[in-house]
Amino acid sequence: MIKEVLHSASQEEERIFRFVCTNSTRMPSPRKGKRSTSKSSSRSRSRSRSRSRSRKVLKSPPTAERKTRSPARTKTASPARSKADTPTRGKPQSPARRGRSVERAVTPTRRSARLENKAKDPEFKEPLEALPSMDKSKRVPKTTHREFGGAIGSFFMLFVLPITVYGLNIMCDKKSCKPRKMKIPTDLKLFFDWEAAAIYLGWIAFQAFIYLLPIGRLVKGQPLRSGERLVYRCNGFYAMLISLAAFGGAVYLGYPVKKVHEKFIALITTGTIFSFVMSVLLYIKARRGPNSKLAPGGNTGNVLYDFFIGHELNPRIGSFDLKFFCELRPGLIGWLMINLVFLTEAYQKTGTFPPALTMVVAFQALYVADALWFEDAILTTMDIITDGFGFMLVFGDLVWVPFLYCLQTRFLQEHGDSLPWYCLAGIAILNMVGYTIFRGSNSQKNEFRKNPYNPELAHLETIPTSTGKKLLVSGWWGMCRKPNYFGDILMALSWSLACGSSTPLPYFYPVYFTILLVHREMRDSEHCAKKYKASWDRYCERVKYRICPLVY
Ligand code: NDP
Repeated sequence: MIKEVLHSASQEEERIFRFVCTNSTRMPSPRKGKRSTSKSSSRSRSRSRSRSRSRKVLKSPPTAERKTRSPARTKTASPARSKADTPTRGKPQSPARRGRSVERAVTPTRRSARLENKAKDPEFKEPLEALPSMDKSKRVPKTTHREFGGAIGSFFMLFVLPITVYGLNIMCDKKSCKPRKMKIPTDLKLFFDWEAAAIYLGWIAFQAFIYLLPIGRLVKGQPLRSGERLVYRCNGFYAMLISLAAFGGAVYLGYPVKKVHEKFIALITTGTIFSFVMSVLLYIKARRGPNSKLAPGGNTGNVLYDFFIGHELNPRIGSFDLKFFCELRPGLIGWLMINLVFLTEAYQKTGTFPPALTMVVAFQALYVADALWFEDAILTTMDIITDGFGFMLVFGDLVWVPFLYCLQTRFLQEHGDSLPWYCLAGIAILNMVGYTIFRGSNSQKNEFRKNPYNPELAHLETIPTSTGKKLLVSGWWGMCRKPNYFGDILMALSWSLACGSSTPLPYFYPVYFTILLVHREMRDSEHCAKKYKASWDRYCERVKYRICPLVY
């Protein structure tokens, strides 16, 4: 899109437009008074700090440094000097003093306004030129920082993750749902069953078939380090609708969908074997492929670690993107289908829809539908941009999500629900508050990343960074650094609260999820600190709380 815009513009326009796009982040704040939110006593100190920081930032990309060094050094250009640290709003403003060419570039003219309007196109993506971090050699450097306890931690995780899924599902069964010393069932048929294997593999094949259908939008992903942008087919919502129709058809035709419940443990086994096999194949594929396709975080050279974290960033077979496919379809829609099996079973048994179970199934269905409706939003998440596709994500997507996230609904189906209506009403409010925060913040960031010039976001304050991207510091993203995680945790809690207080096991999900998101926030913060340097520090100074306002 950006190329089309540039082609149609005259050369001068092109130069201006490129400058506006790549330097809009370097414009002075139109609201100087709002710039510092720190206490006045520390203002001068923080200014001198931000000055030295901004120099540090400007050092990394040579072009950025060349264009801005002199204003940064002169007193009159002080707004530009702190540009990488200064919150700005919406559109770029013209600086008071700059070189002639610079002034021409940032002074609103009819021509530049026309080009800027083009940038408001919803398809607009940040120009590749705005990403100086791209490595022209395209080689992915060796990973030096290891997460999850390195190779030893990864080795243990290969066992801990499946054991957790089995353990919780064996402990919380029809007879009882209490933490207890587990007796491993001796009936091997419980653990493996050819029919369960056929159901699981048939489900994956069915989802793959839908993914290949030429329906749904084609969306470009974020630029890779090579500058290339992969194209993704976003038809996840259709996949959910088709799956729902198939489920309805199966129930109508009398297919015993309760088999999924009966063969639950055997389904977990097939999913686990499938995940191991797929991860091995992915690792082999990554080893045979070019270095440029590797994940920056999964290229240590240690087989175990790279296998677990994911060696290749975006493994594909032709245009079939394996990570994108697994992230939201078989597991997430599978979770919804499993919930519907429980609901159908409850209805067939009692002739009614039990209120708490129905409510939790509805909330989780909303969560899944939301993820699929906004499917392209996943293209800006860590899972797609940073993490490779290895056992961690494969198992997470294909086993952990479908067979653990339904623990609450399974408990409610097997043990009934007993909460009074007013408790359910409170839980429903909590879920909707969580959803509002979750959806509001995710949409705000996604819209902003898609089109930083979106007029609807022009009221938001931002901090420019040396990469050309900006960081939101007001709206949802001024409340805390991960408002989306906060909303997600509130929803997770509400689903478990619906299970009452007779047993702690259905609370596994919000507890684990909080730990996951706290850790994920730290990982993301580390990535962002490396990427945005002083601007990230400035953001953290400005937005103090990480996930929960006033608490954490
Ligand atoms: P985010 O959606 O928060 O994405 C992180 C990226 O957003 C950062 O790397 C940065 O990338 C950008 N960013 C961070 N702060 C700002 C800011 N102030 N302004 C603009 N951009 C910013 O995280 P995740 O990808 O981890 O999660 C996405 C959603 O998925 C969340 O709602 C989360 O709760 C949910 N989730 C659900 C899971 C589940 O199992 N149910 C598991 C994990 C996540 P850049 O600047 O490069 O754009």
